[in-house]
Amino acid sequence: MTSIYEKYRLKQVINASGRMTILGVSTPAESVVDTVKYGLNHYFEIKDLVDKTGTYIADLLNAEDAVVVSCASAGLAQSVAAVIVKDDDWLLENLHAAPLAVPHDIVLPKGHNVNFGAPVGTMVTMGGGRLVEAGYANECSPQQLAAAITPQTAAILYIKSHHCVQKSHLSVEQAAGVARKHGVPLIVDAAAEEDLQCYYRVGADLVIYSGAKAIEGPTSGLVVGKQQYIDWVKRQSAGIGRAMKVGKEGILGLTQAIENYLTQEKVTGAQMVEKMTPFIDNLNTLNGISARVVWDAAGRDIARTEIHFDEAMIGRTTAELVQALKNGEIAIYFRGYKANEGLVEVDVRSVSPEQLNTIYICIKALLSGEKTA
Ligand SMILES: *Cc1c(COP(=O)(O)O)cnc(C)c1O
Repeated sequence: MTSIYEKYRLKQVINASGRMTILGVSTPAESVVDTVKYGLNHYFEIKDLVDKTGTYIADLLNAEDAVVVSCASAGLAQSVAAVIVKDDDWLLENLHAAPLAVPHDIVLPKGHNVNFGAPVGTMVTMGGGRLVEAGYANECSPQQLAAAITPQTAAILYIKSHHCVQKSHLSVEQAAGVARKHGVPLIVDAAAEEDLQCYYRVGADLVIYSGAKAIEGPTSGLVVGKQQYIDWVKRQSAGIGRAMKVGKEGILGLTQAIENYLTQEKVTGAQMVEKMTPFIDNLNTLNGISARVVWDAAGRDIARTEIHFDEAMIGRTTAELVQALKNGEIAIYFRGYKANEGLVEVDVRSVSPEQLNTIYICIKALLSGEKTA
């Protein structure tokens, strides 16, 4: 049988960039794939499936309730719609048909107004919300967040992500304190985060995760939260949620992936260091290159290889090198957030030791030469 790669003439990829949407995010475990297949092959009463898998997930996470959605972005849009529409039948069907007479401002720290591949503001607007920034690009204290709340505020939105400004921005717990004090709900977008319980535990009303990132499920999303708010999110399947429908296979696949995620031992940062050490040693034999272990900027237990290219010695910019590696016969993708500083990061989680060696060989071929001294 010809492979899918051959059939459609697709390029092979080594994903050293982490859980990236542009590369297909992750590759779920066999038990998840089997569950997806089972889901595709059977009928269910979908409300029953949504409710019971939600309860099952909530029990695993010690939360009041949960619901599987099509992706974290959809979870964000539907959560925003949920806190605006609530129980209102007319609003559910007319969210975009008339100027909203109910509170619909969504207050978020200015340093959280990021682009994660699409803008946070787009999802808020899709859910009928109006984004209101609190604080400044470089600081947002609990007081500054509170100062942005008015009678028009429908919720506070907190984006927990490496994409956000970390410096001088309040914690989720502090945001929950502000929300409680002002009687507004707190929505936390924790799409790529690894802890499925801590943000709910510190007081968030709705917490959103991407199904295919840390959890390594199928394309899907998870919203965990308080009963009332999850009920309101579920209602959106008869509103804007219909444009972002999740299938039975996604619901079942993510539920299985969450169970695996919570019960299976996680690869630790220390294990990642062990895996990347021969790779780092090899890289450090090359002229113009220095490689070392760096730890995740958002504080997760993830170690990565940072490669520094001495552009003067190599005679090419880091951006050119990164591009050349993407353009090779096998496309190699790094984390290139700091390419302008001559740095790239290699995320080894989805890369086998053989692939790490392939990366080394490709870099070596690009530079053509080992250190002489
Ligand atoms: C990835 C990401 C999203 C979007 O997740 P999808 O499941 O791809 O929709 C939203 N917010 C943040 C912070 C992310 O990192």
